[in-house]
Amino acid sequence: MAGWEYSKFQNVPCAAEDCRHQGKGETMNRDANCIFCKIIDKKIPSKIVHEDDVAIAFEDVNPQAPVHLLIVPKKHMPEIHSITVADREIIGHLFFVARSIAAQKKLDHGYRMVINNGRDAGQTVFHVHLHLLSGRAFHWPPG
Ligand code: 5GP
Ligand code: ZN
Repeated sequence: MAGWEYSKFQNVPCAAEDCRHQGKGETMNRDANCIFCKIIDKKIPSKIVHEDDVAIAFEDVNPQAPVHLLIVPKKHMPEIHSITVADREIIGHLFFVARSIAAQKKLDHGYRMVINNGRDAGQTVFHVHLHLLSGRAFHWPPG
């Protein structure tokens, strides 16, 4: 695909083998006051289920379903509303990681992915994250 530099990153470990994310892990910024940045830097413990150069996935400390994981870019970005076009591969990568975890965990009955953006949507941690929920039936419309 034009514009991708996949060949440079073929050896970057990634759970999703067909995800053509770019390896930008070394240059990713952190916010010293951000709880997810502290988890990424292992300054706060978490139950990590996946990690690569771009993203980390760990168990939510207050699970809302039998499976409740958070898939988090290593780059600190406060909310979806503040991302730029330069972040599109990182954001896309989160979904490949989610799919890969869902396959590994055999979430064959379905799973829900949620991103809360802003206070009224229920966002409480202002570092972008994708919730991956499974193990029970979910209602629609959401509350
Ligand atoms: P939000 O409400 O911003 O969409 O989601 C934030 C999520 O982060 C919540 O589901 C909350 O339970 C989880 N969370 C907050 N602090 C921590 C923490 O220190 N460790 C872990 N594992 N999850 C956290
Ligand atoms: Zn952060």
